Order: sequence, then C-alpha cells, then structure tokens
Amino acid sequence: MGEHRHTATIDAGESDTFAYLCTGCPLGCRLEVDVVDGDVIEVRGFSCKKGERYGAQEHTDPRRAVSTTVWLVGGPVERLPVRAAEPVPKDAVLSLVRELHGLEVHAPVEVGQTIATDVAGTGIDVIATRAVQPKEQLPVAG
Ligand code: SF4
Repeated sequence: MGEHRHTATIDAGESDTFAYLCTGCPLGCRLEVDVVDGDVIEVRGFSCKKGERYGAQEHTDPRRAVSTTVWLVGGPVERLPVRAAEPVPKDAVLSLVRELHGLEVHAPVEVGQTIATDVAGTGIDVIATRAVQPKEQLPVAG
C-alpha cells in the first residue's frame, strides 16, 4: 500500500490520505488518494483519467503486470518468455511466479498461446510472448 500521508476529519467521517506514484506513463504523477471508511472518495494529482483510475485501483485492489520466463524443451533456446494474460493482484505475484518455476513447455509455441491456466489459484492464465519453432533436426547421415 502507498505511503500514508495524514488523517483529517471531514463531514463524512475520518479521512485518510495515501500517496502513490502513478506508473501509467513516464511522467510519474504523484497521486493523493483520500479514503473514508475504506472507500476512496477523491484522487488528486493526476494529469489524465488513467491516473485517476490508477489511484483508486492502487488503493483498493493493487495489481501488477507480470512477465517472466519458463523452461523450453525442444526449442532453439532454453527459456521461453511469458506473461500473465491480465494484471495480477499484488499479493499473488510471488506465488504465481513460483508456480511457474518448474514448468516446462515443449516447442513449437505460438505467440499468445496459453501455457498455464488459473496459475496459483488466481484465475489468471499465462501466455507465451514469443513464437518458437522446434530446434532443427540434423539430417540423418547415410
Ligand atoms: S496520471 Fe496520466 S499523465 Fe500522470 S503518470 Fe499517470 S498516466 Fe501519466
């Protein structure tokens, strides 16, 4: 969770303000999110709508894009780049990556091919981000 800035009393009750850095683009706007009883009541500091949505989501349900690699069998390289098909709840990122640790995928693989489903019980699939053809077979002598 973000840095907790201050607490203030407003009509609706006690308001807490949390600070987040928007990662939506390189500008990196500093967001302030006002929260009352766990509900986001205002986001400030954004320069676009994307940042306003990010601030609210980062407080209530923070998620991260996850990219990693898994073992590739029968291909020209040993590792296949993959990514989660959708942003992963922040608390589940480590268990998702750990579950992929020993996974082996066999070539050929298409871009966007699902290589694991419901990883770590998140309901999120993991897909390949690179197409790989099988390693060329050496011609048989004779
Ligand atoms: S609020 Fe908009 S402009 Fe600012 S960092 Fe986020 S995405 Fe970029």
